[in-house]
Amino acid sequence: MKIAVLPGDGIGTEIVAEAVKVLHALDLKFEMETALVGGAAYDAHGHPLPEATLKLAKESDAVLFGAVGDWKYDTLERQFRPEQAILGLRKNLGLFANFRPAICYEQLVAASSLKPELIAGLDILIIRELTGDIYFGQPRGRRTAVDGHFPGAEEAFDTMRYSRPEVERIARVAFEAARKRSKRVTSVDKANVLETFQFWKDIVTEVGKEYPDVELDHMYVDNAAMQLVKAPKKFDVVVTGNMFGDILSDEAAMLTGSIGMLPSASLNSSNQGLYEPSHGSAPDIAGKGVANPLATILSAAMMLRYSLNQEESAQRIETAVKKVLAQGLRTPDIYSEGTTKVGTVAMGDAVLKAL
Ligand code: NAD
Repeated sequence: MKIAVLPGDGIGTEIVAEAVKVLHALDLKFEMETALVGGAAYDAHGHPLPEATLKLAKESDAVLFGAVGDWKYDTLERQFRPEQAILGLRKNLGLFANFRPAICYEQLVAASSLKPELIAGLDILIIRELTGDIYFGQPRGRRTAVDGHFPGAEEAFDTMRYSRPEVERIARVAFEAARKRSKRVTSVDKANVLETFQFWKDIVTEVGKEYPDVELDHMYVDNAAMQLVKAPKKFDVVVTGNMFGDILSDEAAMLTGSIGMLPSASLNSSNQGLYEPSHGSAPDIAGKGVANPLATILSAAMMLRYSLNQEESAQRIETAVKKVLAQGLRTPDIYSEGTTKVGTVAMGDAVLKAL
């Protein structure tokens, strides 16, 4: 089992170190190799995704990724910005399915901004299509408008598009995932306004016929955004396009109280995957030793489950995390009165001990 370890920038290095520590404590043999990515790679090699890093990622069964980015790179040309490394990895590895679970741990119910009864026991899985939609659609650019409300004015445009195979494969991923859970899929679209999403809805419905044991319903994205805060437990597996998924998965993340708790996985058709916390590089707390490493540790558990076929070890890690929370240990982002505040390394050590 070969793992490419790409810590990245900011808190990335701190939280990945804790996840690596936990992986090493399992009775499994890994080959792990670390490489630079993001701003750190730009500083050293002039590119956020150097050839050597990409080669390592391609040769590995899985990539354990921290986070990239810092405000100091905001003025760079777009192609050199740290965040381009993630897009490059997704594209080159064909990572089209993004899994973002939103689980509310019993001990953290109070950290949510929602009422406890709405959030207790929440366990939903948002599956976001990752390589299509308006984020990648061509053409895009700036030009002089020839029509619209202001002909002759400067304008910018992007293209929203999905092909049939792109929608079919993400729909299948969602139905398969639902089979392992409570057999319900909600497909989120904007079919009432957008042709692309009427097409999406038609195809998801067609694919759904191959899965008669899975219940499928459809919801407009604006309603889904409302329902996520009104009655989030109504959902189980949610499947949607790249842009809607980007927004809804962050909304779902915050339901659980802290973005520092949420893992994510991005998979290709051969189950090779990139595993990373749902949050960014948090430059505001980088180097202070206070970042929550649990999202990254839980991402390592997802890696064991989806890419390395080690379900038992995945569950061991998840159980260890629950145990540590039950012991009352909290990094500052999830701290509440009556619990014990710990830093990044102490939290990693506690998971190790619980393991
Ligand atoms: P962010 O997720 O880095 O931080 C948002 C807030 O959450 C901050 O207050 C931060 O301190 C807090 N936070 C995040 N992770 C935490 C953790 N593990 N423990 C405790 N607190 C945590 O988002 P941002 O501030 O909008 O972006 C910062 C940088 O990260 C930017 O350069 C952005 O482009 C980049 N970014 C990278 C990724 C990625 O690498 N996948 C994702 C999002 C943002």
